[in-house]
Amino acid sequence: MLTRRSRALLIAFLMAWCLALLYLTHHTSPESHLSDQDLSDLEELKRRVQLEGDDDLLLNDQVAQEEFRDAQLNALRDSYGENEEEEQHDFENIEHPTPPPDAKIVDNFDVKHNFKVVDPRAEWVPLPRPSQPSVPRIKFVEEVGSRKSSDPYAKNNFNVHASNKLPSDRKVPDTRNPMCRKRKYPEDYPPDLPSTTIIFTFHNEARSTLYRSVRSVLDRSPPELIDEVILIDDASDDPEQGKIVEGMEKVRILRNHEREGLIRSRVRGANAAQSPVLTFLDSHIECNTDWLPPLLEQLHKNYRAVASPTIDVINMDNFRYLGSTSGLRGGFTWSMQFQWETAPLKGKSAIDPIPTPMIAGGLFSITKRWFDESGQYDLDMDVWGGENFEISFRTWMCGGRMDIVPCSRVGHVFRKQHPYSFPGGNGRTYDKNTARTAEVWMDEYKQHFYHARPSAKFAAVGPLEERTELRKRLNCKSFGWYLENVYPELSVPGRDMVGFGQIKQGMQCIDAGAGTLNAKLAVQHCLPQDSDKQEWIFRNDGTIKLQDGHGTNFCVALDKDNHAVLHTCTTDPPMLWTYTESKQIRHRETGLCLTSSKKPQLRAFPCGSTSNENERWAFTK
Ligand code: UDP
Ligand code: MN
Repeated sequence: MLTRRSRALLIAFLMAWCLALLYLTHHTSPESHLSDQDLSDLEELKRRVQLEGDDDLLLNDQVAQEEFRDAQLNALRDSYGENEEEEQHDFENIEHPTPPPDAKIVDNFDVKHNFKVVDPRAEWVPLPRPSQPSVPRIKFVEEVGSRKSSDPYAKNNFNVHASNKLPSDRKVPDTRNPMCRKRKYPEDYPPDLPSTTIIFTFHNEARSTLYRSVRSVLDRSPPELIDEVILIDDASDDPEQGKIVEGMEKVRILRNHEREGLIRSRVRGANAAQSPVLTFLDSHIECNTDWLPPLLEQLHKNYRAVASPTIDVINMDNFRYLGSTSGLRGGFTWSMQFQWETAPLKGKSAIDPIPTPMIAGGLFSITKRWFDESGQYDLDMDVWGGENFEISFRTWMCGGRMDIVPCSRVGHVFRKQHPYSFPGGNGRTYDKNTARTAEVWMDEYKQHFYHARPSAKFAAVGPLEERTELRKRLNCKSFGWYLENVYPELSVPGRDMVGFGQIKQGMQCIDAGAGTLNAKLAVQHCLPQDSDKQEWIFRNDGTIKLQDGHGTNFCVALDKDNHAVLHTCTTDPPMLWTYTESKQIRHRETGLCLTSSKKPQLRAFPCGSTSNENERWAFTK
């Protein structure tokens, strides 16, 4: 028999081990979640600790559950005020899940072959409303085969246990500006608002978040404005992942047998839809009160408008619904990172739609007519990412507009990492998708993108003709126009530079040679643009820097024989040059000019001592 003391020590030891394992399951990356063996060890440990009779210290599911509900109740009380206590009932009426009827999952088809641009002159045809088969509501959704003890973050990168514990139709606080609440549907809206098809795409979405997303659409939208809810199951591992929403009113599920990524999946949904408006949503959202009419109103005013709701935050750890700051719009950096920024106010009311240079991309409404007419999405983009840049540039440059609508709010679970694989690699996919966007839409400004995201230079972008032809056919404006008129706040690096790109003389270009420290520069045949040996930036400070996309920091200097060589950039005199009016590149310290007269060597001689042609240099950008 163990003594009391050693038993206490053993318990303490087992507890520490147990807690360490729990900590790891919650805080490590999704790739490193516990093996089955670890999990059964953990179970065994817990059982033994329990046998030792120290229940209080255990992370007991019952207690945790009650605490969680209390926290949620408090959150609800906070958001509704004391006089709305009836909301608490949500947590008491636990219904048992009813199995939905047999799944009607439609076969896969090749989206690419189904891609068509419909006749933009076609009139909107009102849809006959679908009949409404209905299944009993499911109050609490459990994951199939989920184990309470397993890492709640492992599959979805959010705390799925927290989601499962919430009622599938929980109330969310009305986060709108109070002025929005004064406008009532239908009386304060145009009588002929167009109706919409909701399109969700999902890959391995948790059942509880998926169900709650659909439920919130059906419960918080005027029924006459929703024709259909189409879900595209993008080859989730479990073919029945979407079965939980089968049979819900207006719901149709299409399944891809092969992973298409969210871009092609959305297009598949759009092609299956017949409503005048398409509304794309992520599969872990909750629509807020009256979210839909203000979006549709935007499109009613202008069929080329794209309307995005204000995106609230559903906390990924505890699923609290949090109102996000109003007055934000979408912007981006040159490396094509989306970012939120404060919109310039321009004296408008706080509830007026906010023009946005960019949409976050997950949630928006667009007319089917404009979606089809303006080229849907780029079907050669894979998995996730970049498509919001493409649709934003295209919409603005080709005659449309984009706004964030303050009176429409939808909550979204933001997470830190993608829970799914990127066939071909995460970075590579993003490089490819953004590089396709840059190649088709950004004109000469794409240089700034490649400069800021050098890895994209090497992306295999694939064929671009279809998209460049689309741009021509739609007679779209230039990227310069977009910058000037839609996003004048974005600072353009080129404005602070003497010149950049290749430094040319006819078909000959200044080449970085070996591209290493002290390497001699050469005059070589020009390579295709964006090669890593012939891209330069001649900066206002007088340095000429190599843009090789490998993170080096080499500038042009002269060695003792007046050969041009690569040195680590500084602004010391030997590294400084002037680009003269007659297009010479003159070394400030010695007054010598770069010349190709000894090509392939690139050397400096007294200016004017060789022929003008040998001293004249042009930048491609
Ligand atoms: N998605 C998809 N196929 C994919 C990747 C994502 O259908 O290959 C879905 C995903 O389930 C979600 C939406 O696309 O409904 C957006 O993805 P995610 O939420 O991961 O993007 P984020 O919101 O983090 O930008
Ligand atoms: Mn999402």
